[in-house]
This record gives sequence, structure tokens and C-alpha cells, in this order.
Amino acid sequence: MFFTEDFIHYVWKFRLFDRDNLRTTTGENIEVFSAGLPNSDSGPDFHNARLRIGDTTWAGNVEIHINSSDWHKHKHTNDNAYKNVILHVVYRDDDPTILPDGRRLPTLELKERISPELYNRYHHLVYGEQQFIPCEGSIHAVDDMTLRNWLTRVLVERLEKRSAAVMAALDKNRGDWEETFYQFLAAQFGFKTNALPFELLAKSLPQLTLAKHKDNPLQIEALIFGQAGMLDEDFKDEYPEKLKEEYRFLRKKYSLNPIEKHLWKFMRMRPQNFPTIRLAQFAALIVKSNHLFSKVLDIKDVTQLKKLFTGLDINPYWENHYRFDAESKPSSKSLGESSINILLLNTFVLFLFSYGKHNQQEYYINRSLKLLEQLPAENNHIVTNFGALGIKVGTAFDSQALLELKNSYCGHKKCLQCGVGNKILRMT
Ligand code: SF4
Repeated sequence: MFFTEDFIHYVWKFRLFDRDNLRTTTGENIEVFSAGLPNSDSGPDFHNARLRIGDTTWAGNVEIHINSSDWHKHKHTNDNAYKNVILHVVYRDDDPTILPDGRRLPTLELKERISPELYNRYHHLVYGEQQFIPCEGSIHAVDDMTLRNWLTRVLVERLEKRSAAVMAALDKNRGDWEETFYQFLAAQFGFKTNALPFELLAKSLPQLTLAKHKDNPLQIEALIFGQAGMLDEDFKDEYPEKLKEEYRFLRKKYSLNPIEKHLWKFMRMRPQNFPTIRLAQFAALIVKSNHLFSKVLDIKDVTQLKKLFTGLDINPYWENHYRFDAESKPSSKSLGESSINILLLNTFVLFLFSYGKHNQQEYYINRSLKLLEQLPAENNHIVTNFGALGIKVGTAFDSQALLELKNSYCGHKKCLQCGVGNKILRMT
């Protein structure tokens, strides 16, 4: 038999062993009132268990091992953190656990009490052959409600993890949600390739400075392209020369330092996604929408949210340019539907959730989840593979939850901590 301590942990937690005539290895009766609360920190595996051993009722900790001899190997004997252990639960009692005062620690051996079916299901699940995820042969048999409840839980875990970065930035921005939102949104405008320079740009150019020039689109564009380090050369075209001139004045006025131009990546990108085009779109968004985060909090309808990104007044220069001084065939430079969906997914959803968490307002948390339900699912190999296993992937709610499930659970074989795994192991 091959298993890890986690399996014994799991068996104890859910009391999945034969509980008839339960006795310690010295023959005393055991009655389990509560298995205790799993402890993920150092110290005993379960806290606050309640048991009766013989005629005495105990409240204390439970320690789990595969072999009882692990108690000494792990040096628990003289460790004060283990002083309140009331029961040692082991798969095999290979060595009596004697405490420093000479007492024998009450021990429950599970070797003959775990059913072969449970063991086989566990083994098949965690160690069986797999192409994609460990439970690929059984997940189809899990009922919809179990699956949906679990996906909701992992989705919330994903948002909680990601909102930690929002909280850290909010802290740096002294609680200014608008500025923090502006910085995150800017990073998203860089999509994957240019996220860093976009973020640095936003941090070097406070939103309040931009707001002062809201009525002058050319100055907004000059500030953005100038701070991006893209105006530090001589141009043939009139438009970038004008930007340069405006920027020279504004840079001095606000004592600005541009970021390094070389940070921007153009290689292997479709011209439509060139950072110059993204910067022009970002400038147009700033001109169009003031106090964007307040709007995000107010607007409930996804169509209205999307309208924040549509009809942006991008400078006509970009109609037939992808870079300065390089004329190209005319084409629309509006943000496409899929880019808008990514911005909503990665920024708006995250901020609604983070704001709700921070202010303990369930309303915004629910709105962030609702927004996910209104956005289309992403298309990637993880989503496709889950789809091939019969999992319904209708919206971004599903795809985001499945990404988290795969990356944080399946990929680490955390099936014993997974709601789906729990169901599979206990199927009759
Ligand atoms: S973690 Fe859950 S969903 Fe993933 S393979 Fe294991 S049981 Fe299946």
C-alpha cells in the first residue's frame, strides 16, 4: 500500500474508518465526539478534538502519522507544542509512543479499519495514469451542485489571492482607490507583453496630473507619450513634433521623469497591439472618463461598462499609423471586443471584489461574481480540456474557476482538499 500522511489526515478528518468497537492499542474504548479542526500551521495536526478514552472525556489535540515511530523521528517527545496531544492516530503502530513522564500516549491504529474500496479510489485518483488531471476518469460522475459549489469556492479563493496585490497597492497609494485603479488599468492596457512599462508609466504620472488637462486631449497625449519615453527624438511628422513641444513644457511644470523607451516591446506583436496604439487608446480613455473607479462602482450593467471603452476619440493621426513617422494603410484603432472583455475581467471584476472585501460589503463581491457571469469564457487549453471532460464552460465565471482549480489543486494533486475529490472518494 502506498499513501501519504495526508490520506490518514483525510480519513481522520471525515472519520472514514470503521468506528465499531473503537479502541486504543492498549484496549481502552474510544468515542470520538469531534475530530477537531485541521491545523495548517506548525504543531499538532488537529486542534480542539473532543473524545472519551476509557471513562475520561478529553479536549485537546490529535497528531497523525503513518507509523507511531514517526512521533520520535519528528522529535515531538520534548516539544511543548505537543504536550496537549490526547490521541495519536496512526496507520501502523510499530512502536509504542512513550512520553517523557513514562506514560504511553493513547494511540489509535487505523490499519485494519480503512476499507480497501476507499484506499483503491484514493490510489486511483492520486496515483493513477492521467493525461490532464488526476480525476479525469471520474469527474463526469460528480453531481452538478457539488461541482458548482466547489467552483464558486475556488473562484473566490482566486479573487482573494489576487486582491492581495490590490490591497498592497492601495496601501502605497494611501487608500486612494481611484489612483490604484488607474495604475492597475494601465498595466492591463499593456496586456501581457507591455504590462510593466504601462504600470511604470502610470506610477510616474499621477492621475490627478492628467485630470488637470482633461479638456485638452493633445496635452493628455503629450503627457502619456512623453512619460512613456517616446518623444525623445526628432520627428518628420507634425503630430509627434507637437506632442514633443507640449511635453517639454509639461515635463518642466510637473518635474516629470519619463520611463525608459527600451522597455516597450514591439517584436512579434500584431501592429494592432503595438504599445503606441495602446497608449493612444489609453489617452483617449483618460480624456473620455474622469473618476473611472467611481463609474465602475455605479454602473451595474455590463453593456454600459463596455461603453466606457467604445467610441474612444483616438487621435486621427493613428488612423493611418502604427508608429510615429511611419504611414500605413488606414484602419480602425478602436479597442476590440475581446480586449474590452480582458480589461473588464482583469481589472473591473478584481476591483469590485477587492472593494467589497475591503469595506465588508457583500453587494460589491456579488456584483463582481455577477459580472464574471456576464463575460464570455476565455479560450485556452485548460478550458478546452475541462470541456472535453464534459464540464460546462459557459462564462468567464466557469473559466476563471477552472483555471484556479487546475493551477492550485489538480496540478499539485491536492485531491484530498478538493470538493470534487472528496465527492469521488466517497461515492458509493
Ligand atoms: S484536485 Fe479535484 S478536480 Fe483536480 S484532479 Fe483532484 S479531484 Fe479532480
